[in-house]
Amino acid sequence: MTPDSLIRPELRALSPYHVSESSGLIKLDAMENPYAWPVELLDDWLAALRDVALNRYPHPQAPALKARLRTVMDLPTDCELVLGNGSDELIQLLALGVAAPGRVLLAPEPGFVMYRMIARFVGMDYVGVPLNATDFSLDTEAMLAAIAQHQPALVFLAYPNNPTGNLFAADAVEAIIAATPGLVVLDEAYFAFTDASFMQRLGDYPNLLLMRTVSKLGLAGLRLGLLVGPKPWLTEFEKLRLPYNINSLTQISADFALAHHEIFAAQVQRIRADRADLQQALAALPGITVYPSAANFILFRTPACQGDRLFQALLKAGILIKNLSAASALLQDCLRVTVGRPEENQAFLTALRAAL
Ligand SMILES: *Cc1c(COP(=O)(O)O)cnc(C)c1O
Repeated sequence: MTPDSLIRPELRALSPYHVSESSGLIKLDAMENPYAWPVELLDDWLAALRDVALNRYPHPQAPALKARLRTVMDLPTDCELVLGNGSDELIQLLALGVAAPGRVLLAPEPGFVMYRMIARFVGMDYVGVPLNATDFSLDTEAMLAAIAQHQPALVFLAYPNNPTGNLFAADAVEAIIAATPGLVVLDEAYFAFTDASFMQRLGDYPNLLLMRTVSKLGLAGLRLGLLVGPKPWLTEFEKLRLPYNINSLTQISADFALAHHEIFAAQVQRIRADRADLQQALAALPGITVYPSAANFILFRTPACQGDRLFQALLKAGILIKNLSAASALLQDCLRVTVGRPEENQAFLTALRAAL
């Protein structure tokens, strides 16, 4: 018995999710909030952790944390809530819930790579529909045609989209929800960096679910995502959730952090202001095309055939961003930079200017 004979061929064909080595580098590759907590908060947090009974299993339902999330994220009262170990786990849980031979998971491309990977994990067919090449908006006609042809069980729309950073037009999203025979999941991982959301419209469509995560808000290390939607759906997906997927330290820490939500709100405002500055500075560089962003990162295109070289030059200067050049035909010579602290953004701009 060998992996070749036992492991499913579609799994063997997958490359593992790649995370770049970042030690010693200015890290602007993963949409992390660059700010730590104020020191005065740390003592209170550590005091809260002191009482955690690590010899016991975590609370299987995390009721305190759920109540906190309902308030802080203004969840509609008639909606149900399922917690995931990051929203990555929720994508997996959604796919597991509907997977069957021939069932299709559909998403626009370029998009979040985990949709495609998880479709493969669970044995679903994956269909990627190209975005419009000029501005990465939804190609509504192509999406509706693909939905009619493939009758997807699951459609994922990241709102705003990663890696392009733009917010899809609400009327295009509505048309897709109305046309999809299965579930449409709006992935609002970047909700903090935009004022647009479908949260208050969850009840309007029988097949609409919504995901959020605290990762991009500033708690990526805790691994906590939430799935929100009508109770009949969530009751089924809750059965697939492993009983203790949200560990005790995460439950206590996330509840504590969100009780001080104003700290994250202030950091987010700072990041949003710095995003505007970074966008403007990038656009002023010769040959750089900057795409609009409603998230905490910026996608930009370098002069033709310069993407790989500039990415390497930045790395040599100690700055790690994301090279998307090979990720999609639509992203040739495209790089993605996370909005960091002002001095990190400056170091990035200085290095890029020098390399150009
Ligand atoms: C980062 C990201 C996620 C994953 O979030 P986690 O909660 O950290 O697993 C999901 N969707 C999109 C679009 C993302 O960019």
